[in-house]
Amino acid sequence: MSTSIRRWVETDTGHRVPNHRSKCRNLHGHRYRWEAELEGEVVTREGVSEEGMLIDFGDVSEILEEQIHDVVDHAFIVYEGDAEAMQALSVMGDDHKTLVVPFVPTAENLAKWAFSVVESHITTAYGNDLRLVAFHVRETPKSCASWRL
Ligand SMILES: [Zn+2]
Repeated sequence: MSTSIRRWVETDTGHRVPNHRSKCRNLHGHRYRWEAELEGEVVTREGVSEEGMLIDFGDVSEILEEQIHDVVDHAFIVYEGDAEAMQALSVMGDDHKTLVVPFVPTAENLAKWAFSVVESHITTAYGNDLRLVAFHVRETPKSCASWRL
């Protein structure tokens, strides 16, 4: 038995899937939703702000803002092995917001990446069981990928 919560942030982010057989090989972007799923036991200490919560939603939001939103919002995510896109982005100059990653930036791979980025920041001050168990990346209203333990 456990309790789970979810919290997300949204970003406008560009990417491309270089080997895709169709339109996803074009440079394009999405309104991404980055959703963390946490599981554990609620805080039982009486009188504290988090009593009855796994963690304050605001604390999760702050982590997602710093670790995900501020890194990829209005940025272009590019696979380091995508020579054409790397070359195109190189002419944009150093102040262009580019995130180079060692994987093809599909929703599936981005979910795994986001999980690894956020996991170590999920902590509790009250000793209650609390862990990140999944990360969900919604690329379009109809398309969502998850990475879970
Ligand atoms: Zn896409």
